[in-house]
Amino acid sequence: MSGKKEKSSEKREKRLQEISLLRTIHYSDHQRWWSEETIAVVTGANRGIGFEIAKQLAGHGLTVILTSRDTRVGIEAAKVLQEGGFNVDVHQLNILDNESVSEFAKWIKEKYGGVDILINNAGVNYNIGSGNSMEFAKQVIDTNYYGTKNMVKVMIPLMRPSAAGARIVNVSSRLGKLNGRRSRIEDEALREKLSNLETLSEELIDNMVSTFLQQVENNSWQSGGWPQKFTDYAVSKLAVNLYSVLMANQLAERPEGEKIYINCYCPGWVKTAMTSWAGNVSAEHAADTGVWLALLPNKEVTGKLFAERRELKL
Ligand code: NDP
Repeated sequence: MSGKKEKSSEKREKRLQEISLLRTIHYSDHQRWWSEETIAVVTGANRGIGFEIAKQLAGHGLTVILTSRDTRVGIEAAKVLQEGGFNVDVHQLNILDNESVSEFAKWIKEKYGGVDILINNAGVNYNIGSGNSMEFAKQVIDTNYYGTKNMVKVMIPLMRPSAAGARIVNVSSRLGKLNGRRSRIEDEALREKLSNLETLSEELIDNMVSTFLQQVENNSWQSGGWPQKFTDYAVSKLAVNLYSVLMANQLAERPEGEKIYINCYCPGWVKTAMTSWAGNVSAEHAADTGVWLALLPNKEVTGKLFAERRELKL
């Protein structure tokens, strides 16, 4: 290993140890704004990081709704947590299927009266190692960006008013940084527009992803100045990160007592099915920052991207 790589790996190892330690410190009573009446929904929670987020939130005493696009698999996953004594309910949810999403919304409204925390974890990636295939680009963009966005739109009206504020956490990636050092969109004028709240809009983000998909379709994406690594995935997560900034800004206008805070985080390179169990952190560790963000006693944090409990510059 080169000196530089060795140093950064040591640094990361140290941060992982710090976080493991932080996780042993219990929330004090004055920090715990939640109770078993607090409802947290986790998408794609039948396995991987989503399952771990569901488990850790339930471990903190919330009621967790474990959702899964495959009903049977979801019931099996929930059973593992229920048998461990956790307060976990389960429901089918495919974030790409409008009928499934509206059926879920109706169910949660009727059964629980709404939601306090939404964890948008469901996602896909088909790039492994150094592969950069565009074969599944549309599905990646549809699931990671449009699916997440749709969940945000459908769930916002169901988010219950509270003094602590409702919370949305999007499991995203640092590959989707607007100004990432190694991987970013090359078009400086577009980057400028996307980084400015005066010019950032849903239409601008949607146009960016549809331009990308058009170029994939006519096979010209390689000269389009897109991020070079895991391109479709990076574009999808960039769109998620930007949409979160946009929504945070809009939601900040809600009156006190009806606030909704929305943040993103990168879980790192995680040993899950998505990476064919490569990666250098466990799903348990990868869930930590999402859970921490969902439960933050400092409710004013919104529109940010985090990794390992620290803010990253988007
Ligand atoms: P997994 O592949 O283990 O889990 C992905 C989950 O998303 C599965 O439960 C899957 O369901 C679900 N899912 C996919 N599409 C849909 C859909 N249309 N509707 C509902 N659920 C769906 O991956 P991870 O746990 O690693 O990934 C979780 C999140 O973390 C993703 O958003 C991912 O992009 C992000 N992430 C992961 C990294 C990593 O290194 N692993 C790095 C950075 C971010 P099913 O079981 O039915 O397929």
